[in-house]
Amino acid sequence: MKVDRIEDLEIRVFIIGYKKEGEAIVVLFIDKVKKEVHFSMAIDSYAYKGGLKSYRNFTDDILRKYHVKDLSVLCWTHPHMDHSKGLLKIFHKYCRRSTKVIKPIFFDNKDTDVVKIYDKETKRLVEAIFKLNALNKNVVINSLAPGGGYDMPYHFRIESKNAQTKRVEIRLMSPVDSIIYHHFRNGTTLPDLNGISVSMILDVDGYSMMFGGDTINDHIRLMNPDDLKGCRLVKTPHHTSLTAREMALYMNPAMLDSACTTIKSKSLPNIGVVEEYKDKTVNFFCTGYNDCTPEGSTYYGIVEYVIGYDHLGMHMDVNLFGNAHRM
Ligand SMILES: [Zn+2]
Ligand SMILES: [Zn+2]
Repeated sequence: MKVDRIEDLEIRVFIIGYKKEGEAIVVLFIDKVKKEVHFSMAIDSYAYKGGLKSYRNFTDDILRKYHVKDLSVLCWTHPHMDHSKGLLKIFHKYCRRSTKVIKPIFFDNKDTDVVKIYDKETKRLVEAIFKLNALNKNVVINSLAPGGGYDMPYHFRIESKNAQTKRVEIRLMSPVDSIIYHHFRNGTTLPDLNGISVSMILDVDGYSMMFGGDTINDHIRLMNPDDLKGCRLVKTPHHTSLTAREMALYMNPAMLDSACTTIKSKSLPNIGVVEEYKDKTVNFFCTGYNDCTPEGSTYYGIVEYVIGYDHLGMHMDVNLFGNAHRM
């Protein structure tokens, strides 16, 4: 992408959580002056019917607000419903032949799949993704990361007249190959859908953001600690549960911010794990409350990070909406 001056560039990251459960992320690279979105990525989706006649999907709302027509990247971390509701609609509305769709490997509606899916909407979404892929064999990116490393299927450059070219990379960190191949070879299925969850680092010229999906300890343990140490912003994996707490161990105290979403029925985020992150972060934000009461609370929470540049370098602001709060 090209901007006149680097000051014209704004990166907006929305961590969206719904009241009881439901997680989605939207990332936009915007030319503020020309009011154009140059890169757009949606990770997962959820839709909520909180007393309204129709479902509300904040991924859709945000993409509409910024006039996004085609997504650059859609990432479906894994087929649990708290990450998948409404995603079929988002796919049909915003995905074209030019879109890259990142999904876990061996999750293709085939006998060789390493997870078993019975949900109809989920199966239809897999079908739709492969239908689009048939038009342009380059749509689907099957996520599979080598243990101790990563796959880097997408990158671009940001050019401007007054700053050095910046490189942007998507690094896929999970699922990790040894675990997935073990099941693929033996024809067995993973005990937990979180075991195929995609997690990624979005690196903007050395500023790394980790979007952890619902990745669990088995996979986190096989990642390169140096890659995790370099992260400056983290959407904590699996709603900050004990089964994903090892991510907190690898984080560098120089890391700036963390954000998480909730699953009310499972009392997530886990307060002990939140404390482990808080030892290392300036800010820990959550999109909702564990003990969310109907009074005084909305059915969503959004943590919005706005990253911009000036002559001093990069700066970041945080906006909180709905139930989102600092813990
Ligand atoms: Zn989840
Ligand atoms: Zn999950």
